[in-house]
Amino acid sequence: MGVAALAAELRVLLGEENVSEDAAALDRASVDGARLSPIIAGQLPLGRAELVAWPTSADLIAATVAAAVRHQVPITPRGKGTGNYGQAIPMSGGLVLDTTRARAVVEFGDGYVVVEAGVPMAQIEHEANARGQQVLMYPSTANSSIGGFLSGGSGGTGSIRHGMLHQDFALALDVVHAREDAGLVHVEGAEAEPYIHNYGTAGIIARAKIALEPLQPWKGLFASFGTFEQALSVIRSFADLEPTPRLVSADPVTLAEALPADEGIPAGRASLRAILDQASLEAATALVEQAGGRVELIREGTQAMLRMSRISYNHPIEWLQKSFPGKYFHLEVAGDALIDRIAEVEQVYAGGMLHIEAQKGRPIGMLAGIYSSADEVYAGFDRLTELGVGFHNCHQWYVDYQPERTAELARTTDPRGLLNPGKLQQELTVRTGRQA
Ligand SMILES: Cc1cc2nc3c(=O)[nH]c(=O)nc-3n(C[C@H](O)[C@H](O)[C@H](O)COP(=O)(O)OP(=O)(O)OC[C@H]3O[C@@H](n4cnc5c(N)ncnc54)[C@H](O)[C@@H]3O)c2cc1C
Repeated sequence: MGVAALAAELRVLLGEENVSEDAAALDRASVDGARLSPIIAGQLPLGRAELVAWPTSADLIAATVAAAVRHQVPITPRGKGTGNYGQAIPMSGGLVLDTTRARAVVEFGDGYVVVEAGVPMAQIEHEANARGQQVLMYPSTANSSIGGFLSGGSGGTGSIRHGMLHQDFALALDVVHAREDAGLVHVEGAEAEPYIHNYGTAGIIARAKIALEPLQPWKGLFASFGTFEQALSVIRSFADLEPTPRLVSADPVTLAEALPADEGIPAGRASLRAILDQASLEAATALVEQAGGRVELIREGTQAMLRMSRISYNHPIEWLQKSFPGKYFHLEVAGDALIDRIAEVEQVYAGGMLHIEAQKGRPIGMLAGIYSSADEVYAGFDRLTELGVGFHNCHQWYVDYQPERTAELARTTDPRGLLNPGKLQQELTVRTGRQA
């Protein structure tokens, strides 16, 4: 493979300032959120970039891919690099194609926006709100890129109503296949779906048209409870409030105390935080008080809602790990047992504690425990199954959403296996099975 020749070609194509072989840039381009998993952290480094390029437009993303394919250099696409579990690590070296300088907001319309891959989700939400609209969902890593969210993410603020992002979130995509004559390939609706949540292994997303909806009058409610069980007792009722809340997160005392200091999260108490439509505020307050809790404060405004989102989903685990370095691991979990059998769920792992997110149907969460070894983590899987807890083993980097379909598509869109090599494995073992 011709990395040096590719670097020379890309310097002409993209400009000197948008190509780098500096050691520090290569190091930065070779890490993601993998350290959240102590099992993967023990295996790092799993790969190192040999070249980084920052194409500044969707067309230049396509031209960069075409050049890399001609030189037979592996291509690992990258947004903000917040993806968990090694998804963005260039395991075969080669080129890291960083999209964060391709950030044109191409078109806002009624019910949609067209953006280039590197535009941050928080920017889209801010700009949509200013036009009386909102995105259907965004992750707790709100500064991450739309291309990275579509390729590595699954949901977040907005998911109680809209589910996960492979369900009608993207209306159309301009993708780039790994071909010598690569250009932008426009796919819509059902044709776009197979490119989502597979880490760029079947095509690189250069531009996306995503759905918007009318902006609602959101309020951020912070409540606290004497016990976590009291907070859990209102999770399902919160999910059923009308209009549907955008986010409902709760934490036991240890997790709540690990979060950034906030007067809405008092020490020594379990915390519940919810982004609610103004019309449901009174009913939500009544639920909190009936369960023995108290409303600490209410916030409003785009910035405040983004801040609340940044302490939801995986983030409480990240804060826990900052407070107790090297101590905890986590699993993604789901099911009513998280509420109905919480004491038994917490006992599956030493030091077990749950961060929970309300969803329609069944709650989801992050179960943290004290880490001793990978085998001890896996040993808990049978007990979780017995308890009726669905789980996703997040300590692996393989595409585990529709892997066979992705492999089938990649046979034509990436015949030489140059896109994010190392992430596509058709036969997943039981340990990596997605059940949550
Ligand atoms: C603390 C923490 C909290 C998180 N919370 C959430 C959450 O609430 N919801 C959620 O869904 N995720 C969450 N994540 C995972 C991740 O942050 C999100 O999925 C994020 O949106 C990824 O965006 P990114 O720009 O950082 O992508 P990256 O990390 O740069 O990339 C993610 C994956 O997509 C590929 N990729 C990047 N750009 C493209 C492209 N243009 N085309 C094709 N492939 C591409 C990469 O190769 C990689 O495999 C969390 C992660 C952490 C560490």
